[in-house]
Amino acid sequence: MQKQRYERPVIKKLETNMPNKFGTKTEYTPKTHIDGVAVKELVKEYGSPLFVISEKTIRKTYREAKKAFSTRYPKVQFGWSYKTNYLSAVCNVFHQEGSWAEVVSGFEYQKALLNGVDGKKIIFNGPDKTVDDLEMAIENDSLIHIDHLDELYTIIELAGKMNKKPKVAIRVNMDTGIYPMWDRFGFNYENGQAWDALNKIVRSEKLELVGLHTHIGTFMLSANAYSVAAYKMADLALGIQKKYNHEIKYIDMGGGFSSKNTLKGAYLPGSDTNPTFDDFAEAITSALINSDFKPDQLPLLILETGRALIDDAGFLIGSVISNKRLADGKRTTILDIGVNLLFTSFWYDHKISPAQPFTQYTEDTVLYGPLCMNIDVIRENANLPLLNKGEQVVVHSVGAYNMTQWMQFITLRPNIVMIDEKGKHHLIREKESMESINHFEKVPEHLKKFEL
Ligand SMILES: *Cc1c(COP(=O)(O)O)cnc(C)c1O
Repeated sequence: MQKQRYERPVIKKLETNMPNKFGTKTEYTPKTHIDGVAVKELVKEYGSPLFVISEKTIRKTYREAKKAFSTRYPKVQFGWSYKTNYLSAVCNVFHQEGSWAEVVSGFEYQKALLNGVDGKKIIFNGPDKTVDDLEMAIENDSLIHIDHLDELYTIIELAGKMNKKPKVAIRVNMDTGIYPMWDRFGFNYENGQAWDALNKIVRSEKLELVGLHTHIGTFMLSANAYSVAAYKMADLALGIQKKYNHEIKYIDMGGGFSSKNTLKGAYLPGSDTNPTFDDFAEAITSALINSDFKPDQLPLLILETGRALIDDAGFLIGSVISNKRLADGKRTTILDIGVNLLFTSFWYDHKISPAQPFTQYTEDTVLYGPLCMNIDVIRENANLPLLNKGEQVVVHSVGAYNMTQWMQFITLRPNIVMIDEKGKHHLIREKESMESINHFEKVPEHLKKFEL
């Protein structure tokens, strides 16, 4: 008979942290495998911490989103938001599925080109496009989404110099009933800035006005906001058509759909309450179809969905460093994954599962990261079974933003693997090393020596 696992008895203190009517939830199933591959095997081969990406989940989620829109609207195009996760392997899964690239800097632009994306299928957003960036984008016939008047005038100047007609759209911001309003990017709809910019573009005769763009916010919990936005975009497109007899080729509704993560302080889990792709698709496509566009003149609908397409495909495996009690007796577990790797733990209560079977005894626990920094907390309160030193946990839905906003602080960034559809794992980003970090540093000659 196998020896039973020993767990020391505990006296449970009643906690009063944010209970809801269902009580606090415990993760009762261990996450021992990801897409059929044992977590322990992954840790043995690639070490801990480890990011794991499921190719199968990316493709499945993308196809769900694509279907929600293309069953409701005739012309739909997705553009992968590079900043959400610009690992080349990840971008290429989206490109294989048919996604264009949506970039917000010269660096991201070049990454898309290097990945093999045709310049005509790169959407260039963001407030900081340098003259060099703009030249590159004009040369490659990319879709440039103008953020401010200074950029507009630079592009007009470049068009003259390069003797080319750049393809442009403007970014529009607007009141969609969601506050605070994101009005720092682009031109405002309500106060006439957007209309003014459009007139300036058409009148200049130097640029080709191909589209209209908006990105109303992120992690939006209201599908209706997109309906309001789509009506306002249609109004601008129809206004241009009426005044100049010029047809806008596309309306780009940006990103911002919420993923299934749970925002901190939310009463119910995000997977139960956040709008679905069908909800967002219904809101946007109904608004466009119900507007005054003739059925055969409906513009292409572009979507730059980021987090909602990749969050669920990402996992972060971590290991227990130690268990401890705080001065008031509260249990804490120190993990080797902290806010340096899990930026989104500032916003979400990530679901965290033990990676091995456990007994039924659970306790409210604070999960700390490994950093020597007081704010390194990845869950302020999670009801978890006892975890022993050396055991693993799996953090769910970490595919968006963590692998781009991570910090090289105190520790180095870990390996990232992708599990393909056949269950084979591939290293897609190597962990950092002393050598890779020091590669960028230079020590002046007079500082090379010291005596202690
Ligand atoms: C960040 C960003 C996106 C993606 O946003 P999500 O909230 O991740 O869907 C799309 N478009 C623009 C312009 C962005 O800045």
